[in-house]
Amino acid sequence: MSERDIFEDALCRVREIGGDAGVDPEVIAALMHPKAMLTASLPVRMDDGTTRYFVGYRCRYNTVLGPTKGGVRYHPQVTRSEVQALALWMTVKCAVVGLPYGGAKGGVIVQPKELSPLELERLSRAYVRAMADFIGPDVDIPAPDVYTNARIMGWMVDEFEAIHRVRAPAVITGKPIALGGSLGREEATGRGAYLVTMELIRRRGLDPKQLSVAVQGLGNAGYHVARLLQKEGLRIVALSDSRGGIHASEGFDVDSIWKEKQASRQMRAVYCQESVCELVAHRQISNAELLGLDVDILIPAALEGVITPDNVAGIRAPYIVEVANGPILSDAESVLLERGAVVVPDVLANAGGVTASYFEWVQNRSGYAWTLEEVRERLAAMMSRAFGAVWDVAEQEQRSLRSAAYALAFRRIGEAVGAHGTREYFQAGRDAPG
Ligand code: NAD
Repeated sequence: MSERDIFEDALCRVREIGGDAGVDPEVIAALMHPKAMLTASLPVRMDDGTTRYFVGYRCRYNTVLGPTKGGVRYHPQVTRSEVQALALWMTVKCAVVGLPYGGAKGGVIVQPKELSPLELERLSRAYVRAMADFIGPDVDIPAPDVYTNARIMGWMVDEFEAIHRVRAPAVITGKPIALGGSLGREEATGRGAYLVTMELIRRRGLDPKQLSVAVQGLGNAGYHVARLLQKEGLRIVALSDSRGGIHASEGFDVDSIWKEKQASRQMRAVYCQESVCELVAHRQISNAELLGLDVDILIPAALEGVITPDNVAGIRAPYIVEVANGPILSDAESVLLERGAVVVPDVLANAGGVTASYFEWVQNRSGYAWTLEEVRERLAAMMSRAFGAVWDVAEQEQRSLRSAAYALAFRRIGEAVGAHGTREYFQAGRDAPG
């Protein structure tokens, strides 16, 4: 997909769904333009003494509901357009869950696997130096995303505090617990996806023990959703990472595979008892094959744009839960919907991450840390409320879940835009202060 396309595709959905849901054109117009975009050159001293220049982006998309919020991605294919699309989706996502945030996103064009730990630290600090006036606890709050993690967030918050000479843990979420991170944040995206998947199963009257699942991308989000669904009795029959996947119709033990991946950095089809791991029967598959498996639930949890008009005919799963951001292009989604497939959209399915980030921010600002049980309970309550609200709009207005989620978000953003006055108010001159 070309650089322009992914943001254009995202805008296209805003126009279509916004128009169809009767959203005020002024609200749609407000959502068509990112508020601010910073592109920076990040000089990094490499271990061999040379300096390399990386490109970093930060997009603050919309601030109507509050400060902007969104992760920072390290990936060789990061583009300006992708960052803008992701920031737009964050705007919608925060509004769907009812968080007091606008959306943002950041990214650095880098293959992090090629950097030493020290180079990675210097790059992360360089990113914050470039963005130091663009982010802040009441302005814009970064968090982890693909190939960034708690340690990187720890370096970032440390750099921000050194520059501003203040303690400011609330500037970044997804930090290590020792630096003000929240219990339960690391698992929250996967847990949120698990919670909405179980809601879907319940509302559709399905039996979890009869359901098979394929997960593309066994990373942070993919691991936790797979592990929690397996606990409920679903069979996790396929898993993959960037190098390819494994498939076994009897299902895998997710924890064994994850443990092995952490130890050897390779995804192998193993079953472990204590420290002894044995290879189990399986077949190696490509990521393309995984998407086309005959499973009940397909969970794309890696990158965007993996289900396209070119491969949509081969997608057989009746339920797709978008844990990754934007894995289904809009042209491909219409084909899936025509076929009767149910898609739980990213703005709902992966909203557990930003919800727990919000909890972390609240804890940092109040100086009071919650227990893991409190985090999990509140996450479950918010995800269930968001799912219920989206489901109800979908039923009442005969919409897909994505269309319902967007409509709900646009109406919430619309209320805030309208509170400042719209064309209707100014032209009519009503309610003029007397
Ligand atoms: P991660 O880096 O922990 O894991 C990503 C996984 O995807 C890895 O296993 C990697 O090997 C795999 N992968 C990379 N390229 C691939 C490819 N071309 N084909 C198949 N697999 C590939 O990242 P994550 O935090 O788990 O994020 C995954 C997705 O979830 C992203 O789209 C991200 O935007 C979204 N997401 C994450 C969070 C969060 O809190 N972590 C929150 C919301 C959304």
